[in-house]
Amino acid sequence: MSELIPSSLPLRNDLVGEEPYGAPQLDVPVCLNVNENPYEPTLSVVDEITRDVRSIVPTLNRYPDREHIALREAFCKYLERESGVTLEVEQVWGANGSNEIMLQLFQAFGGPGRKALGAAPTYSMYPEYARDTFTGWATVQRNSDFSLDLEGLLTAMERERPSIVLLTSPNNPTGTILPMDQLEKVLQASQHIGVEGAGPHVHPVVVVDEAYIEFRNLGTPTALDLLGSYSNLAVSRTMSKAFAFAGARVGYVAADRGIIDCLRIVRMPYHLSAITQATALAAFKHTDEQLGQVNHLREVREETAEWLRLQTWHGKPLQVAASQSNFLLFGGSFEDRDRIFEELLKRGVLIRVVGPEGWMRVCMGKDEEMARFRKTLAEVLAKLE
Ligand code: PMP
Repeated sequence: MSELIPSSLPLRNDLVGEEPYGAPQLDVPVCLNVNENPYEPTLSVVDEITRDVRSIVPTLNRYPDREHIALREAFCKYLERESGVTLEVEQVWGANGSNEIMLQLFQAFGGPGRKALGAAPTYSMYPEYARDTFTGWATVQRNSDFSLDLEGLLTAMERERPSIVLLTSPNNPTGTILPMDQLEKVLQASQHIGVEGAGPHVHPVVVVDEAYIEFRNLGTPTALDLLGSYSNLAVSRTMSKAFAFAGARVGYVAADRGIIDCLRIVRMPYHLSAITQATALAAFKHTDEQLGQVNHLREVREETAEWLRLQTWHGKPLQVAASQSNFLLFGGSFEDRDRIFEELLKRGVLIRVVGPEGWMRVCMGKDEEMARFRKTLAEVLAKLE
């Protein structure tokens, strides 16, 4: 791709040689590589969306509601139902995927001379939001079971004085959840830590990316519970994963209204199209159906983890990270994971080479896809060993 960019173009120096982010989009029978919900919308959802979008098409000469109030009300209603937390419309904000939410957070709270701090391995887009907003990106390494090294993070907060602390729960690509007591410790510390280059009364924003949170084990609390206690907490969510709506591109964030007002400064005017808003609102009328397979996918994750642990590589069981999401990071000792990836792909199964050396990630598909994944992986491991 990049060799097609003429060197005469004044591309920013720090972007020269960079590649666009993204997993391969290949037409293969079993796609388990981008953590989607494999279940397509039911016919009643398809009809509802089609009707509602049809009804707003005659108004497309006008700009959409810039503040997307009806949709923000729907986010509140959803969050109340999903996590039992009551929020005001001023405390939620939507964008084109949680990718755009994150970018807006970096635009508002990052910038030259500022730093964001995360816990690696983690979602590989974070350094890109940092790059694109001229924000520094620092990480602390997770423990060997991919849980958060809390002491390490607190020390790094003191050292780096970041303006953004970015934690992911469940984390991608490991699936590990952030325990609430650890989050509270980070939030408490953030009240006493300054931000590099800012006045003494300025403290980091703590962002919790909960893109996969609906897949957590039942009864597990979420960071939303702490919103009432910490005005510097922002919790990012998305319709792309459990809600099975990745193609519509809708993400959102819940936070103190002060944080939302900061995001309103950096957002593009009319960033959420009328079609996006109508589509998301129509889908929220069918929340039960959209979430209909989440419990099943959680069970599939548990079964698949158990099955993976019974597989061996060079005589040793595969390792599987403890996941509360819709994907599993597995392996741990694959010395040539690209080869395994290629052999799976040749047989029509697409997974992801991501995370630390030796590991691979697979997301949960439909039952027949998972059956094919198991059969194919067993075959490939037996062949390559
Ligand atoms: N956060 C995490 C941790 C993710 O894995 C992803 C997507 N892979 C996103 C955010 C962005 O998702 P979307 O923009 O579709 O909401």
